[in-house]
Amino acid sequence: MAVYLCHEQPDLYEHDATVAAAAPGRVLFDRSAFHPGGGGQLGDTGWVEHAGGVVAVAGVEPDGDDFWHVLAEPVELSGTVQLRVDAARRSRIAQLHTDSHILNAIVFERFPGTLVTGAQINDDGTGRMDFDLSEVDNDVLRSLDAAVNDVIGRGVEVRSTYVDATEAATTAGLVRSLSVAPPPTADGLLRIIEITGVDRQACGGTHLANTGQSRPFRITKVESKGKRNRRIRFALP
Ligand SMILES: [Zn+2]
Repeated sequence: MAVYLCHEQPDLYEHDATVAAAAPGRVLFDRSAFHPGGGGQLGDTGWVEHAGGVVAVAGVEPDGDDFWHVLAEPVELSGTVQLRVDAARRSRIAQLHTDSHILNAIVFERFPGTLVTGAQINDDGTGRMDFDLSEVDNDVLRSLDAAVNDVIGRGVEVRSTYVDATEAATTAGLVRSLSVAPPPTADGLLRIIEITGVDRQACGGTHLANTGQSRPFRITKVESKGKRNRRIRFALP
C-alpha cells in the first residue's frame, strides 16, 4: 500500500478509524491520514480521541505495509476512535518541502546537472539541502531565495499524478535524491509532483496545492561541506 490516504485526500485532517491491532503505546488503524514519513520527510503527529480521553500521537513507525502510530502514553486502544492530524505542523512541513522542490529546480537549472546529496526538513520551520556544487560562490547561492520567492509570489499550481515506474526510470531528472518515500505502488505506478513550469519529479512527501500558500522563504546560511558539497540552510520567517 504505497498510495497513502494523505495523498488521496491531502485536506483530510480528522476522520474516524477502527483499531486493527494495538499494544500499550502503539496502535495500528484500519485507515489513517497520518503521513508515515521516510526518505528525509518527517511523519505527521497529532491526536487520537478515544472512549477514555485524548492521547497524543508522537510519530509513525512503518513496519512493511503497516504504519504503527506511536502514542505519547502507554494506553492500549480498541474500537472506534477519532484521528486528528496536527494540521499546523503538517502545513509548516509542506511549505518547507514544496519550497525545497523549487530551490532544487532553480539550482538544477542554473547549475546544470547538480545533484542533491542530502535534504532535511525540521518541524520548527527550518530545513537544509546539500548539493554537489564546488565552483559556485556562496553569496550566489545565498541570493537564490529571491528566485524561490518569485515562484511563491506567482502562485503556481502543484499537482500530483501517477506514471508508470518503468517510464519514469528512463526520464532524465524525474527521480532525484530529493524524492521522499513511497517507492512504486504494487501496480508499478510512481507518484509525480509537478509544479507547473518549474519542477516535475517523483516524490511521496506532503506538498502545498499552490506555491502561493507558502510564507516567504529565506536562505539563512550557506556552508561548505567537504570539497564538493554545499549546505544551504533555510527557514520560514
Ligand atoms: Zn516532494
